[in-house]
Amino acid sequence: FCNSTTTLTMASLDKNSHILVFPFPAQGHIIPLLDLTHHLATHGLTITILVTPKNLPILNPLLSSSPNIHPLVLPFPPHPSLPSGVENVKDIGNHGNLPIINSLSKLHDPIIQWFESHDNPPVAMISDFFLGWTHHLAKKLGIQSFCFFSSGAFLTAVIEYGCRNISWIRSQNNNMIVLHDLPNSPTFSWEHLPTLIRAYKESDPEWEFVLDGHIANASCSGWVVNTFDALESRYMEYLTKLLGDGRVFGVGPVSLLSGSDPMTRGQSEPGSELDVVRWLDGRLDGSVVYVCFGSQKFLTSDQMEGLANGLEDSGVHYVLVVKQEQGGLSRVGSGRGFVIKGWAPQVAILSHRAVGGFLSHCGWNSVLESILAGVMILAWPMEADQYVNARLLVEDHGVAVRVCEGPNTVPDSAELARKIAESMRGDKSEKLKAKEMKNKAIEALKEGGGSSMELDRFVKELSNLGHK
Ligand code: UDP
Repeated sequence: FCNSTTTLTMASLDKNSHILVFPFPAQGHIIPLLDLTHHLATHGLTITILVTPKNLPILNPLLSSSPNIHPLVLPFPPHPSLPSGVENVKDIGNHGNLPIINSLSKLHDPIIQWFESHDNPPVAMISDFFLGWTHHLAKKLGIQSFCFFSSGAFLTAVIEYGCRNISWIRSQNNNMIVLHDLPNSPTFSWEHLPTLIRAYKESDPEWEFVLDGHIANASCSGWVVNTFDALESRYMEYLTKLLGDGRVFGVGPVSLLSGSDPMTRGQSEPGSELDVVRWLDGRLDGSVVYVCFGSQKFLTSDQMEGLANGLEDSGVHYVLVVKQEQGGLSRVGSGRGFVIKGWAPQVAILSHRAVGGFLSHCGWNSVLESILAGVMILAWPMEADQYVNARLLVEDHGVAVRVCEGPNTVPDSAELARKIAESMRGDKSEKLKAKEMKNKAIEALKEGGGSSMELDRFVKELSNLGHK
């Protein structure tokens, strides 16, 4: 089960606290956990990151910059509903979560074998919140385990409550669902609940396994959440009440901790990133809308046509990110838009002075990256955590405007054009509030800031484990 990379690196591990990091292979999960890992490694911890072979390239920047980070590469366990070679949700879309979560559970025994053959085995494990079964494994191995939430505290609270009360929630089908325990008792329509809760199928062993995993998350040593106080303090307080004092660490936005070059972040091979920057250089400050729906969403040709018409008719300039094989792009050749096929250097684009708005599905990483750039979001939530995130941005903080919603909605292009044009006008309060939130996010990670202190506390806790 160990390939040669693993065998070589095992010998070179030193006696610092050794931590096993187990990311879930979806870009929106793996990128932020690698950002956190970079921070831990620069603070003296020795890290092994568990990936399957197809996900190894995304570690390259980290491995070349941090001598105390090592890969553990285990073969991807096949699954009947996954085409061979698919090892990351980005290659199959959101419905790939269920089979990928289940297939990764087959790494249970190989991990035990690796652990037992190691002369300096990990003292703790940090695993993605989709991999809750690893907390049972950690108990078996006699080590601490921490859960990394690549989503925010509001979403974490909704999922935790939803999983604990799954039968009641499902019996509410078609009604508005009030989550009584949460701060301000938020109400969600069925369609706006996280996909995980809506898609769960009772008595289906694969779904039961996912549910067990989420419930097991509550039994681990601590939760590490990619968020900061000014954005989500009340939900962080709620989580702390659930888990216990000192057990929840709010360490975000972790993209600020990244050791990666923003031009190639999340990508194994550099592309044509400089072209978009040159194009943006020729545009006025705050005049461009950046449009990207994360790493998984594939729009139908009709949806893309509605979107492209809306963008063109809005009269604003835009950067549009599409998947390689996307149809519906016939209107985008007017010179108003710059189209990127494949992977965009999102963090670099958002921080360009010409970008004034981000038409986004509201995936949590996109949300935080937009906040860090001080860019207002034009929200089109579709699935997963996105409605919860959009509510936080629009209703709680006023840093975003809603322009569309739904995974299959074909936008009315005239309406979309009007909303985009109106949002991009100079005097929107959301723009100002987005800039204020940016300052708070940066403050959080400065020395003495909330997230910075939480990170210190987390590093200290991990380091102490190695000295017991
Ligand atoms: N991303 C990127 N370029 C792209 C698409 C996505 O850099 O072309 C990055 C983006 O910056 C973010 C992550 O991929 O860090 C996507 O995570 P998010 O939570 O926003 O959405 P998801 O892909 O999970 O739906």
